[in-house]
Amino acid sequence: MNYLSLSPEQLEDELERVKKEYEAKRSLGLKLDMSRGRPSKLQSDLTEALLTAVSANEDCISDDGVDCRNYGFPKGIMELRRIFAPIMGADPENVAACGNSTLNLMYDCLCDAMLFGYPESPRPWGREDKVKFICPVPGYDRHFGVTEALGIEMVNVDMTPDGPDMDAVEELVKDPAVKGIWCVPRYSNPDGYIYSDETVDRLASMKCAAPDFRIFWDNAYAIHDLYDDGKPLKNVLEAAAKAGNPDRPLVFFSTSKITYAGAGVGFFAGSKNSVDNFMKRVGVRTIGYDKLNQLRHARYFRSTQAVLDHMKKHAELLRPKFETVCDVLEKELGHTGTARWNKPRGGYFVGLNVMEGTAAETYRLAKEAGVTLTKVGATYPYGRDPHDSSIRISPSAVTEDELRAAIGILCVCARLAALNKLISDGKNS
Ligand code: PMP
Repeated sequence: MNYLSLSPEQLEDELERVKKEYEAKRSLGLKLDMSRGRPSKLQSDLTEALLTAVSANEDCISDDGVDCRNYGFPKGIMELRRIFAPIMGADPENVAACGNSTLNLMYDCLCDAMLFGYPESPRPWGREDKVKFICPVPGYDRHFGVTEALGIEMVNVDMTPDGPDMDAVEELVKDPAVKGIWCVPRYSNPDGYIYSDETVDRLASMKCAAPDFRIFWDNAYAIHDLYDDGKPLKNVLEAAAKAGNPDRPLVFFSTSKITYAGAGVGFFAGSKNSVDNFMKRVGVRTIGYDKLNQLRHARYFRSTQAVLDHMKKHAELLRPKFETVCDVLEKELGHTGTARWNKPRGGYFVGLNVMEGTAAETYRLAKEAGVTLTKVGATYPYGRDPHDSSIRISPSAVTEDELRAAIGILCVCARLAALNKLISDGKNS
């Protein structure tokens, strides 16, 4: 029944019914955590042979003759860069294999910009009166955490199924204080959108008032398809080079959701200039990243194709979970006319929009019933969702049975919050 067309009496009746449903679910005493996009144990188990891919002294020398047990080679081993460069759309020479994560690389790159600026910066960003960053919303909470921590003012731009609203972006970059944009271009977090070719071209070629504007191209889910027909993403490095802005995109990618989350390898790619500049800073920061882990990854996969084949095993485990989420949402919430959600073809999240003004209440009710979701508002800068509507569902870590139960609870909570709001709006109107 569509809640938006119910009479006040019908709303009250439905409220009584849904309240009982909620109490029944709450009394089950479940404890389910869907707050973060963590791979499941079964996914981590897939790469057991990685643990022993390097197991003797004579294994420790990379193909290019680097003793991975020792200091040096901060750009990482070529044996591994060659495997992942095609996935990043870059020449292996312009790829750096780094440590265990990309979030810290993004943080480092922004700190460096604040302290030193880029080669063409009039001054370090930290010495500007104001630095602003474009944040497509909803987006990745940890990106927003980095820019917030560094005192960079965040400006919201709405996401569309083709990527950020480019008319708004092109307007904003006329302001020289706007120095960059966060992008998760393939299977965006949380909506699972893929930027269109036109969006990539416009980002690569738009005229920016800041001479040192940077696109933080966090392609975390570049190859994380759930189905075989994943739409390709246009190569931003090529598009930017063609448009005469080769240094604009800084590209990040990691194996966190391919091998081990937090114990994989993070990569950086860009133009030759960007990589040289990045390495200048890296060379001060470290005498070399963990090359043994890089070597384990290189020996485990050996080819780009093997990485792509491996992702199909992840898809087998993840696809039924995503389908369960969408099935339950459709059955339990579809008829109410109060919510909408995407059906992602990849990535790690389902973005659910409940009725405006009810996400925080839905979150609270779910928590009381034992289901922990990503904190409401987290997908917006400063933790503020202006519509109080966005809920991020992370289906990967829990089992399918748990997921069915958890989404069932979430739907009852969303219905309860919507009914309460409709009733109180009706009384106040
Ligand atoms: N970027 C995005 C968009 C993510 O969703 C995540 C993980 N949730 C990360 C980066 C973190 O990647 P890493 O483990 O390489 O730091």
